[in-house]
Amino acid sequence: MTNVVTRREFLGSMAGFALLPLEQEKPELILHNANVCTVNAAEPRAQAVAIARGRFLAVGSNSDVLNLAVSGVQKIDLGGKTALPGFIDAHSHPSEAGRLHLRMVDCDLRSIPVIQAALQERARKTPAGEWVLGFKYDDTKTEENRALTISDLDAAVPDHPVHIQHRGGHTAYANSLAFRKAGIDEKTPDPPGGQISHDPATGKLSGRVAESANGYFDKVIPLNFTREDCREGVKLISKMLARSGITSATEAQGVPEDLRAYQDAHEAGELLYRAYCFINYHFLDQMLEAGVRTGLGDEWVRVGAIKLVCDGSISERTARLSVPYEGRPNDYGILVMTEEEMYSAGRKAHLAGWQIGTHANGDVGIDTTLRVYERLQRESPRRDPRFRLEHCTVVNDELIARMKALGAIPTPFSTYVYYHGEKMRYYGADRLNHMFALRSFIDAGIRPTQASDYPPGPFEPMMALQSEVTRTDSKGNVWGPKQRITIEEAIRVGTLHGAYASYEENIKGSIEAGKLADLVVLGRDPLRENPSNLITIPIERTMIGGRWSFEA
Ligand SMILES: [Zn+2]
Repeated sequence: MTNVVTRREFLGSMAGFALLPLEQEKPELILHNANVCTVNAAEPRAQAVAIARGRFLAVGSNSDVLNLAVSGVQKIDLGGKTALPGFIDAHSHPSEAGRLHLRMVDCDLRSIPVIQAALQERARKTPAGEWVLGFKYDDTKTEENRALTISDLDAAVPDHPVHIQHRGGHTAYANSLAFRKAGIDEKTPDPPGGQISHDPATGKLSGRVAESANGYFDKVIPLNFTREDCREGVKLISKMLARSGITSATEAQGVPEDLRAYQDAHEAGELLYRAYCFINYHFLDQMLEAGVRTGLGDEWVRVGAIKLVCDGSISERTARLSVPYEGRPNDYGILVMTEEEMYSAGRKAHLAGWQIGTHANGDVGIDTTLRVYERLQRESPRRDPRFRLEHCTVVNDELIARMKALGAIPTPFSTYVYYHGEKMRYYGADRLNHMFALRSFIDAGIRPTQASDYPPGPFEPMMALQSEVTRTDSKGNVWGPKQRITIEEAIRVGTLHGAYASYEENIKGSIEAGKLADLVVLGRDPLRENPSNLITIPIERTMIGGRWSFEA
């Protein structure tokens, strides 16, 4: 062993060079002649990496790393291209989205007739009486500038029940047959925490339901996915994420089927991202009985936090706010769980050693969630609980100070400013300077993450970087410029901070010897790009665990 120490000391003495403790390990692959942005503060730039058994063995200059080459090692010249750590999407719904892509009409379309045609097309292939389902519909993205109505849907598809989820996932639109099947008529009262919308002129059903009113449909829509379908869904979304440079994602509303789907897909060699799988609190008791808690698994599939939901959504304007929505003086949004419900589920999870991730968008939702977290820590202090505030959209200085004191982690929407710009006017210019508040979080010493919430938001990391750096939407409108961050900060948010949010900062999130060999090779250097063109930077290759998961 003396030999090992000596050699390590020798190599350790070379500036900007690091080596795994497993000294005898030989590199299998060397990537050289690259512009490596490591996101490692001790060595921010490098030219080459050596990889063995799925991990970085060495990171350094071309000559340092090429010196390690042994016979049989594969060398790839990256031609000066920029490499970054693989992106980590700290809040999305990939497994669920994969299943939906398998089964539903993608309604991310730009006019009502085009949506109607897509639904008709699906209805033609569906036996009469069976459901026609859609998702990714967005009422603000069609040229008519109005929401789908029950009559639009009846006109398009009269003989099948039709149900379309809004891109945000908190509201849905249905035709008459679907409402009949769900047992809802004009007189059905709003359920607690939910809303059945009516046409203000006629009092008839408008076709829209929100929040807990979706439960009526959930009961009657036969969305049965076989085990095979779930695996297929993960396979499909894996390819979509790999193409965009993502190597890790949090399944933010996971259920036991997702955990199984991830294991199945991984076993079949189809999983192309590392999954941190939250578990919906409805399954908490089952998980506790089985002795499962956060962290169980391996670097591919790991049990994440218990998921609680405090309030509504930003894109659908149901987040709970202290000051009403612009132009809607009595509309403060919706609270989904009571504080007491959150506390009692949270307490069980907290005592059992679970991380907790609570959906909290509006300032009232965040305040309520923090109160629950503060109480849990006060009553039963735990070291490093890393409480998460999922989305954590509308904040103020007081909330930020409390987050800092708790060590809480926000996962704000990364692509919303760019992609959902048209919805930002509902919040007003002043509030926008306190939304998706990356500048404030970073200045306070908090570690926010990159998070798409896909399907509600697009997951492409280059769009996230542009959105965060410019705070400008696709039409050139600027929203909340005080929250701009630098490109270097945005890259750190999208990589190392994401690893921290899942307790994995020691194994991923930066390009460092000993960490998992997850990286992305870009067509151009984002640090030298005009920030308004970041979205056009091509993803050339994505690597996970030392293997290419995508090559253009
Ligand atoms: Zn979500």
